[in-house]
Amino acid sequence: MNKEEEMQRIISRIKDCRKCDLWKSRLNPVPGEGSLDAEILFIGEAPGYNEDKQGRPFVGRAGKILDELLESIGIDRSKVYIANILKCRPPDNRDPDVDEINACIEYLDRQIEIIQPKIISPLGRFACEYIFKKYGLKYDKISKMHGKIFKVNTLFGSISIIPLYHPAVATYNPMIKNQLLEDFKTIKTSELNIC
Ligand code: SF4
Repeated sequence: MNKEEEMQRIISRIKDCRKCDLWKSRLNPVPGEGSLDAEILFIGEAPGYNEDKQGRPFVGRAGKILDELLESIGIDRSKVYIANILKCRPPDNRDPDVDEINACIEYLDRQIEIIQPKIISPLGRFACEYIFKKYGLKYDKISKMHGKIFKVNTLFGSISIIPLYHPAVATYNPMIKNQLLEDFKTIKTSELNIC
């Protein structure tokens, strides 16, 4: 199977998935979208209201901020891949619970193996906690770790983990938006061919 076929298989499974109770309240699952050859993979927490309606990641206010951040370093959204820890929206945008994450995370793990990005940028606490644990890194507060580069070895080579604040925070906190703009410069100066 090639990359496209493998990703399509994952997406089909997500669309039929009932491994946790979130399928009952979702309008649409949100598997993720972007280039399968992306050098950078952004990972958010879970779909929100707009994402659930459209079945696409980061299409609401936080998505607009993410688009602005990408634009600030000259990267087109179509060149990256954007996914979430959970593929279905938790009711009232509550935090994901541990059982939901455990049930859902195999999909994200497989997406990482298919895309094989050079950079993974987890957005916000839940994504950072998972990615740090997955790669054997010690997680501290996002306020201490954001914008730093953590090199890890994977089955597909050495990659950089660059934790970032979640763009949703920047919708009501201009200081976080400025910090995100600074941290995106770190992505730009990393070893990416698309910059
Ligand atoms: S959140 Fe994940 S595990 Fe739960 S139903 Fe949706 S796709 Fe399945």
